[in-house]
Amino acid sequence: MSLSLLIIGVGFMGGSFALALRRGGFEGKIYGIDVSPEVIDRAKKLGVIEDGSDKLEDVGRFSPSIIVLASPVRTFEGIAKGIKPFLKDETIVTDLGSVKGRLVLRLEDILGPRFVGGHPIAGTEKSGVENSFGDLFEGRKVIITPTERTDREALEEVVKLWKLTGGKVEFMDPLLHDWVFGAVSHLPHAVAFALIDALVEMSDGVDLFQYPGAGFKDFTRIAASDPVMWRDIFLENRENLLKALEVYQRSLQRLKALIEEGREEELTEYLREARSRRISLE
Ligand code: NAD
Repeated sequence: MSLSLLIIGVGFMGGSFALALRRGGFEGKIYGIDVSPEVIDRAKKLGVIEDGSDKLEDVGRFSPSIIVLASPVRTFEGIAKGIKPFLKDETIVTDLGSVKGRLVLRLEDILGPRFVGGHPIAGTEKSGVENSFGDLFEGRKVIITPTERTDREALEEVVKLWKLTGGKVEFMDPLLHDWVFGAVSHLPHAVAFALIDALVEMSDGVDLFQYPGAGFKDFTRIAASDPVMWRDIFLENRENLLKALEVYQRSLQRLKALIEEGREEELTEYLREARSRRISLE
């Protein structure tokens, strides 16, 4: 029997996941549900899904083997409660959300052990199904966050799907995941949004946005990301993000003091250390 898949939230990530599975040889049907009927129409026209609906109850009609949650993270719990009555015992549910942590535990409470949390470390600042593409996950890390309750067979099926997309699966504790990605992803996005906000405030008298240098554009690219998606991530991973922001504020304070007090050697050392860390990423 071939598997069938239902994506809930057929945007950039959900669409890319569908295209990546097809590219990897997935032969089952792929359906989509989205709050927006226009998104469903567009996804069908683009060949991302075969059929779709804007009604959650249609989960029963599609009767999928695997459901993938791919909407903003703060919609997941409501969706889980909404689909629960239509699930067969064997249905697997997974997600592509950027926050795991306690959200994974709450989703497990609602959906049971066949829920498997996942987060692909791939993406762009673009959103919407029209921007999705099939090699997004090729060679990229995919973090899967099983718990002691996770059903092993469901976990294996989810890992198999990711292998089809070209993703490189790694396992991580859901709480650790949120600390790590609070630091390396949520913090830089918060800082990029805040930098734009600061420049708006400083554009009093002269419009600073008329003079964007390459550095400014590189640094702030991610501030063009979807506001609803990032609002949900910031609120859902609030504790870790607030801690990360405090550490960042201390670092800025240190930099500010070095500049204010003209401490040349220490300032060079601060910059040299940061530069070598950044270079080591490549
Ligand atoms: P997107 O805006 O492109 O797509 C989200 C889709 O969800 C839209 O089509 C929207 O209409 C739909 N939607 C919103 N509320 C819904 C609801 N209640 N029920 C059904 N559909 C609903 O966003 P995206 O970039 O595809 O992000 C989707 C998920 O992927 C998020 O959870 C995000 O955290 C995660 N993610 C995104 C990236 C990235 O770089 N974009 C990377 C990793 C993980």
